[in-house]
Amino acid sequence: MAYQYALVVYHTEQVENMDINPLIQARGVTVSYNRRRGEEPLVALAGVDLDVAAGEFVAIVGPSGCGKTTFLNVVAGLVRPAAGSVTVAGREVTGPGPDRAMVFQDYALMPWRTVEANVRFGLEFQRHGLSRSEVDARIAEAIELVSLRGFERSFPYELSGGMRQRVGIARALVGRPQILLADEPLGAVDAMTREAMQGELERIIAASGLTTILITHSIDEALSLADRLVLVSHRPGTVREILDVTLPRPRFDYDIKAHPDYAPLREHVWELLKGEALGAKEVRA
Ligand code: ADP
Ligand code: MG
Repeated sequence: MAYQYALVVYHTEQVENMDINPLIQARGVTVSYNRRRGEEPLVALAGVDLDVAAGEFVAIVGPSGCGKTTFLNVVAGLVRPAAGSVTVAGREVTGPGPDRAMVFQDYALMPWRTVEANVRFGLEFQRHGLSRSEVDARIAEAIELVSLRGFERSFPYELSGGMRQRVGIARALVGRPQILLADEPLGAVDAMTREAMQGELERIIAASGLTTILITHSIDEALSLADRLVLVSHRPGTVREILDVTLPRPRFDYDIKAHPDYAPLREHVWELLKGEALGAKEVRA
């Protein structure tokens, strides 16, 4: 299809650093948040190391409050680590950039803007050198990619949760980033839509060659999408284990959960996660 072709061309010509391996490298990332005066700072992440290769899909799974969002914000350049660093294509992250796009759990759409105008927002800070017709073509391509053609003039309130998140994904893709950072993107959509959207996410990411970090609460979602699964301990978050998910692709053409390797993999992850979730409760109590 034409739009897939366009995305593939873009990724091979624009990303000259593609062969720098790993594309994303986190070393000793430690983040603490200041609290009220007299209170100890809260250590959200402690010494996180992670390498992500170009084109790889990594899922991060861990108990609530373990610092997953914090880690993604560090990669996005929105939070500076107290110690350690993240590099992208060999360069240290010091702020946000068009090479990295985010998708948020709550969609973060502007309710007064149409679908088309929300997607356009993704280009508003980096339109340099693009003619008006190129901008329009990119927007149309992104809308097509998330299967929202025909809804360009709709407002967010007229859309279902799944459709709203498609807008969020299109807004992220329209700037043609190298890296997609998705923070529980399907956490707020209903279970049936969620499964369908997982399949779409797999298709979109395969078509665009994006390097992806996905945060999810769902072991099934992680196993259905990721090349590798990173298990994070309860707070302060550290990397507990990294697992290769070698299940065949595409995983949504048939029910991957029926694959003989699936259940043992899932059980292993659940055993580890269960321990971490219980650990987190003890800390809170
Ligand atoms: P997760 O996404 O894994 O649920 P977060 O990264 O959102 O975890 O948060 C990790 C910890 O840091 C939590 O205890 C949270 O309350 C705390 N935290 C997150 N953001 C801030 C902030 N801006 N200021 C203070 N504490 C924060
Ligand atoms: Mg979070």
